[in-house]
Amino acid sequence: MKNYDAIVIGSGVGGFSAVFELKTAGLKVAIVESDLWGGTCPNRGCDPKKVLMAAVEAKHKVNALSGKGFEADASIDWEELMAFKKTFTDPVSSERKAALEKAGIDYYAGQAEFSDPHQIIVNDEQLQAKQFLIATGQRASILPLEGQEYIQTSSDFLELEHLPKRITFIGAGYIALELATIANAAGAQVEVIHHNDQPLKEFDRELVTELVDYLTKQGVRFTFNVDVEQVEVMRPGYRLVGDNFETVTDMVIGATGRIPNVEALSLEKAGVTYSKKGIEVNDHLQTSAPHIFACGDVLAKVRPKLTPVSVFEGEYVAQVMTGKTSHAIDYPLIPTIVFGAKKLARVGLAEKTIQKSDGKYHSRTLDLASWFTYARINDELAKIKFVYDENDTIVAITCLSSLADELINQLTLVLNQKISHAELKKMIIGYPTTASDLEYLV
Ligand SMILES: Cc1cc2nc3c(=O)[nH]c(=O)nc-3n(C[C@H](O)[C@H](O)[C@H](O)COP(=O)(O)OP(=O)(O)OC[C@H]3O[C@@H](n4cnc5c(N)ncnc54)[C@H](O)[C@@H]3O)c2cc1C
Repeated sequence: MKNYDAIVIGSGVGGFSAVFELKTAGLKVAIVESDLWGGTCPNRGCDPKKVLMAAVEAKHKVNALSGKGFEADASIDWEELMAFKKTFTDPVSSERKAALEKAGIDYYAGQAEFSDPHQIIVNDEQLQAKQFLIATGQRASILPLEGQEYIQTSSDFLELEHLPKRITFIGAGYIALELATIANAAGAQVEVIHHNDQPLKEFDRELVTELVDYLTKQGVRFTFNVDVEQVEVMRPGYRLVGDNFETVTDMVIGATGRIPNVEALSLEKAGVTYSKKGIEVNDHLQTSAPHIFACGDVLAKVRPKLTPVSVFEGEYVAQVMTGKTSHAIDYPLIPTIVFGAKKLARVGLAEKTIQKSDGKYHSRTLDLASWFTYARINDELAKIKFVYDENDTIVAITCLSSLADELINQLTLVLNQKISHAELKKMIIGYPTTASDLEYLV
């Protein structure tokens, strides 16, 4: 039986960043992966999505300047775009394994399952360790309805060789809206069905409504307050049926949430407690079994389940496991972005906290469309909303524009570092950019 100081289960961004830190600290480490090396983000998450999104952004930029220097109406060639996407995703697994080999980290392909608190089994092989890190992430949850076998996931969408004529998304979270944006820009007839009237519920209502209106004008059909109850196969296509509702489509993508990968681990045998939200940890990311830690999307946590958060936790937990820190994890502000031709980006208090606050906060919305940064690219929908507490301190910011992803990161930096207006005025920042607008915003 092989013995290690630490074994990491899951090779996503969380597990991967931890395993290298553990190795660098001199521990004898191994990592186990049951599927694609590199996990969700580079294989079937952020990265392939953003490659497809580049075409959406380019199309939007050209079309926004139609009659202002450009004449052609840009269109997307799906097959070519997917071939481009594959140049990013195809090499990921082998590159990750090569990096592990180069670093001298043992790696095992297979599903890890605890047989006792200090031992896991991978493909009939028993591996022992003093410490473990569980970083097994999440997978798409599929609604338990009649015909659920016909519902596909974001992973299927990101692998689509040919774009169907009609695509229906069930759910209106960020993944559904981003993929709907891509499908719409690439020429599909897109419909988004949501069980209530609150798409992107963590985001500011006012600017979400603006984004939904914008997408509707682009041709995305939104249907709110409908519970899909059944998916029937029609050959060709599918019929989705709900209460007083029916629609026909060629592809159904379920984007109704993600569930933590915990069942296969036999956590009971290790004494690790979990709920349907994920593995429970203390503020040192330690599970109910003190030598077993967890990080990333598999956690039951209030923080957003995003790549930089998993990386932050992976790096932190490696410090705890090697005794380099005994401090509780201290999260900085976390920006969240819905990508698209128009990005919706936020940082600070979530919408539901603001809504529940009973008038404690006040807000200010600025229309930025006439600002030079946006006017020069003819970005007609460019807004920013600040929410303040009683002391006029900013508690939340939401931006909506084609540059909102860059702007929110700059604003997050300003808020995290508590950079004042006076300090911004002392800096010289390249003009004209979103960053050179900062002194007029904060
Ligand atoms: C479509 C989509 C788009 C996204 N876009 C963004 C974005 O734009 N920005 C952003 O920040 N985040 C985005 N995310 C979220 C981001 O991908 C995740 O937050 C991040 O990848 C989580 O990393 P992780 O290491 O916690 O888990 P994962 O990357 O999911 O890795 C977990 C790994 O553990 C493996 N595993 C599971 N069980 C076992 C087992 N028993 N034994 C061995 N291995 C096991 C899995 O196969 C997997 O490879 C997106 C996600 C999706 C699905």
